[in-house]
Amino acid sequence: MKLFDNTEIAFSLKTYSELERAYFLFKMIQNQPMVRIGTAVTNFALKAHLPIEGLIRATVFDHFCGGTNEEDCLPSIDKLYTKGVYSVLDYSVEGKEEESEFDDTVTKILKIINFGQERKSIPFAVFKPTGFGRFAIFQKVTEKIVLTITEEAEWQRVIVRFHTVCKAAFKNNVPLLIDAEESWMQGAADTLIEEMMETYNQEKAIIFNTLQMYRHDRLDYLKVLAEKANQKRFHIGMKIVRGAYMEKERFRAKEKGYDSPICPDKQATDLNYDAAIIFMMEQPNMALFAGTHNEESTYLINGPGKKSTTFLRKTSVCGLDNYMV
Ligand SMILES: Cc1cc2nc3c(=O)[nH]c(=O)nc-3n(C[C@H](O)[C@H](O)[C@H](O)COP(=O)(O)OP(=O)(O)OC[C@H]3O[C@@H](n4cnc5c(N)ncnc54)[C@H](O)[C@@H]3O)c2cc1C
Repeated sequence: MKLFDNTEIAFSLKTYSELERAYFLFKMIQNQPMVRIGTAVTNFALKAHLPIEGLIRATVFDHFCGGTNEEDCLPSIDKLYTKGVYSVLDYSVEGKEEESEFDDTVTKILKIINFGQERKSIPFAVFKPTGFGRFAIFQKVTEKIVLTITEEAEWQRVIVRFHTVCKAAFKNNVPLLIDAEESWMQGAADTLIEEMMETYNQEKAIIFNTLQMYRHDRLDYLKVLAEKANQKRFHIGMKIVRGAYMEKERFRAKEKGYDSPICPDKQATDLNYDAAIIFMMEQPNMALFAGTHNEESTYLINGPGKKSTTFLRKTSVCGLDNYMV
């Protein structure tokens, strides 16, 4: 029997009623018109301050989210930990515009790093680059557009925010994962994270960037980075994912008339993904975090004699990511 077919183990943390609710939710989500109508009605009800929070909490929220803050997530984290499932607290803000909001995100991530340091069940912290600065400023730096004096000061504040959380992760010995986003802002994030790795990954991988293997250029990027890391003597930490913005990437490439950065089909992405994890597992001084639900990639990583760990994300909207060791 294949590992993923053993539903007794896979769902041992779920009650029958939770499984029935999940089945019902996924049936509903498959129905596109229902999702569109449901989203519009929910947004309207929230704006009109109708008392629907209890309903949301008992249905979608409780299935997809661990909680609204660290303490709220603890019962789920503790329950999962009884079966050897660890959690990553994901404060998934993006698309913010205000400097005060970026500073608030830094405070939140610092709190999560401290929280993680105290608990074995939460061994990583995570953040999104655009949680620390405007998307547009990342895009300008990626496109090598000359910044105005004000923008240059803004970018320097982004760099300081990155250093603040990376330094805290280093001091507390809590590995920090940095998410990957859209390709047209990612270049600036990559350069900044390379700088963080060079500073804080001297002895081991504490800072992890993310590679989206649906992008056909990422394996080459990893190989060039490996050479840099060898020369400058730092460790590479890398979260390897397939990528979550495929439709948006293809749409923009078509609209603006450039070649899509995305692999032509799923099979090409799968081959690219597996090539990256094989490459990483063969290299010294590299730490692999495989962010995937894919069964074949999981076997590849956890097969006999393999040294790494698979990370399976259970929830994604907010609150809590879970992975199994
Ligand atoms: C712990 C964790 C962290 C994550 N962090 C990030 C992150 O920082 N940034 C991010 O972008 N995503 C992130 N993701 C999401 C991830 O990129 C995938 O979208 C998701 O995990 C599904 O891919 P899979 O490998 O699990 O499974 P699969 O179901 O095997 O793969 C689905 C994926 O394959 C790719 N794909 C599907 N169809 C095609 C096609 N026609 N052509 C080319 N490619 C195709 C897409 O990337 C799609 O998401 C994360 C996931 C996990 C589990």
